[in-house]
Amino acid sequence: MKNYDVVILGGGIIGLSCAYYLTLKNKKIALIEKNQIGSGASGSCDDMILLQSKKPGKNLELAVESLNLYKGLSQEFGNNIDFHTRGGMILIDNKEHLAFMENYVAQQKNYGLNIELIDKKEVKKFHPYVKDKIIASTHGTEDSQVNPLYTMRMFLSKALRSGMDIYKDTCAIELNKKSGHWNIRLENDLTIETENIINSAGAWSADIGKLIGINIPITSKKGQILVTEGLPQLGKENIWSADYIISKLNPELVNQSDRIKELGIGLSFSQAGSGNYLIGSTREKGNYNKGTDNEVINILVNQVTDFFPILKNIHIIRTFAGFRPACEDGKPIISEVKGNEGFYIASGHEGDGIAMAPITGKLISQMICGEKTSIDVRELSFDRFN
Ligand SMILES: Cc1cc2nc3c(=O)[nH]c(=O)nc-3n(C[C@H](O)[C@H](O)[C@H](O)COP(=O)(O)OP(=O)(O)OC[C@H]3O[C@@H](n4cnc5c(N)ncnc54)[C@H](O)[C@@H]3O)c2cc1C
Repeated sequence: MKNYDVVILGGGIIGLSCAYYLTLKNKKIALIEKNQIGSGASGSCDDMILLQSKKPGKNLELAVESLNLYKGLSQEFGNNIDFHTRGGMILIDNKEHLAFMENYVAQQKNYGLNIELIDKKEVKKFHPYVKDKIIASTHGTEDSQVNPLYTMRMFLSKALRSGMDIYKDTCAIELNKKSGHWNIRLENDLTIETENIINSAGAWSADIGKLIGINIPITSKKGQILVTEGLPQLGKENIWSADYIISKLNPELVNQSDRIKELGIGLSFSQAGSGNYLIGSTREKGNYNKGTDNEVINILVNQVTDFFPILKNIHIIRTFAGFRPACEDGKPIISEVKGNEGFYIASGHEGDGIAMAPITGKLISQMICGEKTSIDVRELSFDRFN
């Protein structure tokens, strides 16, 4: 029977980041992926390391630390991950949103983010093509982006070079702990043995929890995205509508039709390194249907052309959807499970898993090696649900 220090269940950006940081510590690893590497949310998402979308608290702390790690990784990987810091703006086009955003920006400034509220004249300097009815915007200089596919490829190639084994198109059907070791029986009847297991199966993490009799409160929040043809840059900063932030943090305050609220739509508009713009997105709770639909495509097109009328004649070349792993209380679980020593959960990052991947991998590797974690992780413990 093959024997490992760590077996990782789920080959998205979180599992791969764990693999990368653990191989730096010379651990013998296997990765088990039910489908193909990157076939989950990490291959069907936007590319932002967004600080502005987080209130001061643990999620913002994780994102700030992760951004610092990305700066180092982009150097280490020769910027083969397409990391850029272009800043971000949250556009405000009505007075109720302005009041909410003033308070929000004040909290973030207080925390230490480099962000300010700017008036219409300033907005037009940064983004000349934005509609005339804009009233204000935030302007943050630290929001960054990275190509999730390239990042996964770098993590994967580093881990493979350090000897990681991969089992693809299969998954665990039984997890049993025997004399301090976990036995993992795979679908193809192969059994492997390990000291530690990491559950990084994204929106499917709860299924793995069931194998050891625990209830992991993570489900899908589907997001649909449109991709434009390659375009010249409209402005350096990536864009969100105030509705995006409000529907994420305080959905009850969104002043839109019931249908838009139900779909959780708030506009995000960012340009990938290739020149294509990504237009998103929905937040559809519990939805595991991979299709995109015309209703959502029309709403997103209307929203983006309302903010940027110049886009009326451009082409949408494709649409796609992904499943954010959403945890009940909006924070990821980065934790060992009490009573199941050696079983770790690294999941539930919802719309921030790309941003938080490096810090998650680093924290999990520190926990498994019995080191002091570089961030206090008590708030991220699985125990908080008991
Ligand atoms: C529309 C959209 C936009 C987004 N935009 C951003 C953004 O701008 N910035 C950001 O930070 N985040 C963003 N996200 C969120 C981000 O994509 C996710 O948080 C992140 O990809 C989650 O990574 P993961 O590795 O946990 O999950 P996944 O990438 O879903 O990986 C989980 C893997 O586990 C596999 N698996 C499932 N069950 C099993 C099993 N039983 N055994 C083995 N393997 C299994 C799956 O096949 C999958 O490959 C967005 C998400 C969406 C959908």
